[in-house]
Amino acid sequence: MSDLPVMIITGGSRGIGAATARMAAGRGFAVCVNYRKNAAAAAAVVGDIEKSGGRALAVGADVAVETEVLALFQTVDRELGPVKVLINNAGILERQMPVAEMDAGRLHRVMATNVVGPFLCAREAVRRMSTGNGGAGGVIVNVSSMAARLGSPHEYVDYAASKGALDTMTVGLAKEVAALGIRVNGVRPGITDTEIHASGGEPDRIQRLQKRIPLQRAANPAEIAEAILWLASPAASYTTGAILDVGGGL
Ligand code: NAP
Repeated sequence: MSDLPVMIITGGSRGIGAATARMAAGRGFAVCVNYRKNAAAAAAVVGDIEKSGGRALAVGADVAVETEVLALFQTVDRELGPVKVLINNAGILERQMPVAEMDAGRLHRVMATNVVGPFLCAREAVRRMSTGNGGAGGVIVNVSSMAARLGSPHEYVDYAASKGALDTMTVGLAKEVAALGIRVNGVRPGITDTEIHASGGEPDRIQRLQKRIPLQRAANPAEIAEAILWLASPAASYTTGAILDVGGGL
């Protein structure tokens, strides 16, 4: 158990999630660094946090699988204590292609990780945070994408649509749990310098697109983490149901 407020970051082992984990630990959270496959990457983030005097725990779980989500939250209950902040960050995209070529397997995989996963994690968090259940309240931040507004034509409309669903969950859940002491907000990052673009089959996607971004460059993951952690902080105490675009002007 930890005396520090507890934050669960899904997909905390790489990219935006890892930047958020390091920053959150530096700001006094005990951080659960969730990952799906890459245990070494999660261990590296935990190692960095511990070297800096922080508290962190790596927990493997596929957010798309209900039994694994249940085990994730039970592990955190036991090892760190009651969750105060959930960052629904884990997300995937698949190879760039038009909708006309997408098969059902791909659509199910993308929706399972990007929509069902955040719903399951939010459910477990609400059950623990709700003042209606004797909880102490809390905050959920959903990591969406500017793709929800732009649609990602010719690349991954399925991914964009999954983030649209996540945005709607942010709006609806925020209203549902506001009176239970829980705030729910979203961040829509623009193009950010992580490995996710390689999953789309174009590791150099940033080079191709950065001049179309009004700020003329991709975001550093830490720039997205700042927005996530502001929404998670008491400084955002009157902000709920909001979705913050962090897209460099896109
Ligand atoms: P990333 O570098 O590809 O990292 C993805 C992280 O999610 C990894 O830690 C990965 O763990 C984990 N993950 C993937 N599927 C999972 C699952 N089913 N269960 C648990 N963990 C899972 O991605 P990123 O670019 O940092 O993206 C983070 C979030 O920001 C995503 O929701 C993404 O859609 C969103 N976003 C990113 C960008 C961008 O340009 N990078 C822009 C807008 C929005 P393993 O390594 O173990 O698989």
